[in-house]
Amino acid sequence: MKKASKITGLAMVSVLIVTLAAGCCKKIQTMNITKEAFGMLADSVPVSLYTLTNDKGITLKVTNYGGIITSLLVPDKDGNEGDIVLGYDSLSGYLTKTPYFGAIVGRYGNRIAKGVFKIDGNEFRLPVNDGPNHLHGGIRGFDKVVWDAKEFKTDSTVGLVLHYLSKDGEQGYPGNLDVTVTYTLNNNNELRFDYLATTDKPTPVNLTQHSYFNLAGDGDIKGHELLIKASKYTVVDSTLIPTGELRDVKGTPFDFTTAKTIGKDLAATGGNPTGFDHNFVLDTKGLQVAAIKVTEPASGRVMEVFTDQPGVQFYSGNFLDGTIKGKGGKVYNQYNGFCLETQHFPDSPNHPAFPNTILRPGEKYQTTTIYRFSK
Ligand code: BGC
Repeated sequence: MKKASKITGLAMVSVLIVTLAAGCCKKIQTMNITKEAFGMLADSVPVSLYTLTNDKGITLKVTNYGGIITSLLVPDKDGNEGDIVLGYDSLSGYLTKTPYFGAIVGRYGNRIAKGVFKIDGNEFRLPVNDGPNHLHGGIRGFDKVVWDAKEFKTDSTVGLVLHYLSKDGEQGYPGNLDVTVTYTLNNNNELRFDYLATTDKPTPVNLTQHSYFNLAGDGDIKGHELLIKASKYTVVDSTLIPTGELRDVKGTPFDFTTAKTIGKDLAATGGNPTGFDHNFVLDTKGLQVAAIKVTEPASGRVMEVFTDQPGVQFYSGNFLDGTIKGKGGKVYNQYNGFCLETQHFPDSPNHPAFPNTILRPGEKYQTTTIYRFSK
């Protein structure tokens, strides 16, 4: 009897030692930001990569080339980290071919019909880079420029301030636009984007973030459950330009007012290629209530989106066609990632009835979007 208890005691001590040893070697991560080199552009301009961590196991990597989020590690329901964004391992991928992976999009996110608009009777012509239309700021939009970057750290946050001066006439847009985008990570597992811009001539502005998410970390996104608090969407023509009609989502594939899987009505959207690539008119106003919730049942990862913007472009990765080999040699196929681009409506400068996107001298363009992760 005595012997048995001695053995049990020994076993307990060994278990304790093993547990303590495991604990000591487990990665303990705290709030921090570090900077490293990420390569150079063809004209020898150096680019940096910033790594932001919080106390809760989130690791975010951002480069000042295009403000691109290259990686976002988020724990799943069992505490295992997974990279939930699409992209490349190195700068060269982003310089070669990218469907705006992880980038800041501007000066005007989404499309402007035929690249033409008028302000106060003056006509402006922008480069056409998507069929007959202007898309995501043109040939060299904000996703393809080097931003000045400044790290910051407070008791409860860590972040990066990105600044870019877009010159008068750049990509055809009028006015010098002074832009600051701040990325902030906190210990509530929130990633916050604050956009600020001023101009010296009237100009359209519509900034957004173009990360492609896959909360499972792999495979297609059809099983993700999505809720969008939007009772209307902007109807588009065959070139994805809004017709001007705001249509009720009720009874259409675009009804995400109660959660359903992305895959459920994907084939019924009628696009070419089939899938979601639509602007939803949000019912929410301001940052108090989540406008969007995405749940991935297998990993248990949940992403909520809070925004003060009137719309969101929900894009289900329809144009990913297996021609891109991304991180770790992974091939990105159709529906392998989704974007939730909070924004003003596409082609607003040509639709006076849509919320205004013209920024004028003396005014401030100021908007915020927050992605909150949980499990
Ligand atoms: C657009 C898509 C486009 C994608 C990548 C989305 O914001 O709505 O049509 O293919 O970005 O460029």
